[in-house]
Amino acid sequence: MNPLEPVNPLNPARYNEPMSCLFCRIIAGEIPATKVFEDDRLVAFNDINPQAPMHVLVVPRLHVATLNDLESQHDGLVGAMVRTASTIAAERGYRESGFRTVFNCNADAGQAVFHLHLHVLGGRKMAWPPG
Ligand code: AMP
Ligand code: ZN
Repeated sequence: MNPLEPVNPLNPARYNEPMSCLFCRIIAGEIPATKVFEDDRLVAFNDINPQAPMHVLVVPRLHVATLNDLESQHDGLVGAMVRTASTIAAERGYRESGFRTVFNCNADAGQAVFHLHLHVLGGRKMAWPPG
């Protein structure tokens, strides 16, 4: 990628180039977000358009576009994402009352950001099936 070229995150041709990826840019600190957790593999931050009193996104530092792109070498990373989600929910007091975790994959699920992320929602009663 030419570093002098302006980044256009809306251009699908640039989809898989990490520095045109919104979440890569949040992880790099180029775009602000309210981070609630970070370690060497993961960053978690508040969703900008929360759908529940708690709506956190758990995101790997590694750019992986969708669930379809995961390979066996990522199993530990995904396990850490899931365990981090439950730890964050427990810290907020939702361990017993419950919470929801969601991976959206591709168009029919409504995936809008093509950098793997686990939604963690809690603090209200949720419907099933989801819309
Ligand atoms: P998905 O539809 O599963 O791809 O979810 C993408 C999520 O990213 C949505 O819930 C958005 O509200 C959220 N989002 C988009 N832009 C930002 C941002 N700048 N900071 C935090 N969350 C964001
Ligand atoms: Zn990315």
